[in-house]
Amino acid sequence: MSYQVLARKYRPANFHETVGQEHVLRALINALDNNRLHHAYLFTGTRGVGKTTIARILAKCLNCERGVSSKPCGECNACLDIAAGRFIDLIEVDAASRTKVEDTRELLDNIQYAPTAGRFKVYLIDEVHMLSNHSFNALLKTLEEPPPHVKFLLATTDPQKLPITVLSRCLQLSLKNMIPERIVSHLETVLSSEALSYEEEALWSIAQAADGSMRDALSLTDQAIAFGDGSVQSVDVNAMLGTIDRGVIQQLLQLLIDGERKALMSFVAQLSQQAPDFSRLLSDLTLALHKLAMLQVVPDYPLPVAMDAKAFAELAQRVTAEDVQLFYQIGVQSLAELRRSPDEMVGFEMVLLRMLAFRPQGVIDIEHAPDELPEVPTKKTLPQSDEVASTGAQVEKADIEVAHLSSKAAKPLDERSESAADDQPPWDVDGLPASASTASKEVSTNNAVIEPSSSLAEVTATETVPTNNAVIDPASSLVEATATEAGSINNAVIEPASSLVEATATEAGSTSIEVPEAVSEAITESVHDFAQGVNEPPIDHKATMPSTAGTDVAAAALIDSAIPADSPKPTETTVGHVARGFSLDSLTQANFPEFALRLRMIGPAGSALHQMSLQSVEGNQLNLVMDSAQSMLLKARQHEQLTEAFSVALGETVILNIVEGDPGLLTASLRRLEIDTRRREQAIAELNSDPVIQFLNHEMGAKVLPHTVVSLAPEEF
Ligand SMILES: [Zn+2]
Repeated sequence: MSYQVLARKYRPANFHETVGQEHVLRALINALDNNRLHHAYLFTGTRGVGKTTIARILAKCLNCERGVSSKPCGECNACLDIAAGRFIDLIEVDAASRTKVEDTRELLDNIQYAPTAGRFKVYLIDEVHMLSNHSFNALLKTLEEPPPHVKFLLATTDPQKLPITVLSRCLQLSLKNMIPERIVSHLETVLSSEALSYEEEALWSIAQAADGSMRDALSLTDQAIAFGDGSVQSVDVNAMLGTIDRGVIQQLLQLLIDGERKALMSFVAQLSQQAPDFSRLLSDLTLALHKLAMLQVVPDYPLPVAMDAKAFAELAQRVTAEDVQLFYQIGVQSLAELRRSPDEMVGFEMVLLRMLAFRPQGVIDIEHAPDELPEVPTKKTLPQSDEVASTGAQVEKADIEVAHLSSKAAKPLDERSESAADDQPPWDVDGLPASASTASKEVSTNNAVIEPSSSLAEVTATETVPTNNAVIDPASSLVEATATEAGSINNAVIEPASSLVEATATEAGSTSIEVPEAVSEAITESVHDFAQGVNEPPIDHKATMPSTAGTDVAAAALIDSAIPADSPKPTETTVGHVARGFSLDSLTQANFPEFALRLRMIGPAGSALHQMSLQSVEGNQLNLVMDSAQSMLLKARQHEQLTEAFSVALGETVILNIVEGDPGLLTASLRRLEIDTRRREQAIAELNSDPVIQFLNHEMGAKVLPHTVVSLAPEEF
């Protein structure tokens, strides 16, 4: 016996076997049972939802030899003939192939004759919208007043194309698309009665692919049975449909929500080997996002059986409503775009990248090159304590990075600086003082542990663009160092870099570490370039780190010094440490601005100091010039504070002779302005070369507005 396709074998024989479309069936059953039949019915709905099936059942109901009812016997000749498709008074016309007016005329010529075998002549015209206008006109007259023995059953997938005159003469019955749940349950019934094995998961894939059409679902099941040699397995169905596992959507969502770009991209690459339908994948993704959004509002929102309710509930809690909305919006808007993209996989990747790029907190962890992507999940989503915890783990890596430094500039260090985050409050976000001697190196070493992290904390808190990082301070300065590749570099730049490595290593328990030669050279070189002829003593890079105990003491001292923002008078410790490296002998007009900045004085005394330049040094007397407009800042008390600070920093008691006049260009405030400007320019350059910014610029014409880029530490050096 030849195989009969499921769609035909399981075609319902009466209304009670029909799956779905209850609203239409009820109308028909009532009409039949109450004998209030219309002479022309129009069934609308997409393909495979049961239009012709219902029309045929209706034909049976009308012609069953046991009388007109909603329950045809299914045993009489009329019922059997109709079921077999050979009933003479059921005239089925495929309008798609008989569009000409001649065809319609021929059809209508016979209409007046009484039915041969049955009670009614039933004209079932499928795809009626395909008829030509002439055909419609020919049909109209008859449709309005057909002979009493004639019933018209019209079916169309596209009622919009029917002339209004036709529509108004028919009783329209709209058939709905089948919901996946209904398709799955029907497929289960069918497969069970066929005694075939199946995976429910596979049926869901079929139901999804069938897109509301039961006939398609049954045809696909036929295919799957053939494909899977008698059983319907998920793997086979997915391969057959080019769809992907439902778990895939869940995993995509997870990676998307965690912002794990690298893992996400390799996951997509992996998926592409299965040659999935990326458009379908994207629409599935947006559907899943809708589920997440619903779960966030209605926690007990019923999910389709195929979705892992627990996993989805967990995802819904981990992602913000805004992100879900954003992802959904981007997904939906990109669906049309995806179909136009030259390569669907490329299009799909771009959609995912866009989702991440526009996500408020997703931006920050994007770095300069794909190969630098951090392997840990974005720290932004983690609580701070976790960051601290992770520091230890990453410190080990720092050792390796040091070795890397010897061949290249300090590039990888900005990663380390990120990982070195701790709870240091961000009040001390200023740049590190460039230490010009071994002694002060201890300080800046400790500094390095604290400050880059605090600046990171600030970056994290304000959720700025990643490269703003580059604006702020040491952490960023490392980026600067990278860009110029050990060329002319601010000495404040490299020093913290190396000290950071050392400091990190120290934390890990290694008590001594040497800076590689190449770095030393780079540092020395840059110090020279930068210091503009200032004769600073070379840094002893072979210096070993102080013991952990020593570090703590120095760190404590430093924190002390960092705190008194409201005290105009710096402590001895601070001044002593930060400005060490200068002596009365080495102080010159040129390096005076550095010295003044490194005193880190604040309040009126600091403001006054920053407007001064050094005229000359005579013995232990410093002759300073100050703008007369600023001289009001300098009262006796400030003079006293300055004298004390200078004395401590220079290691001997000095006399400050401050006169009014033109201080010229070598003042701390101009120096700082210069540094800030350079940092800003550097940051703008960094921003413009950032791949994400370039992507946004290229794809959407976004531009960095230079005036919106600010140096985050303009007040401190
Ligand atoms: Zn019958």
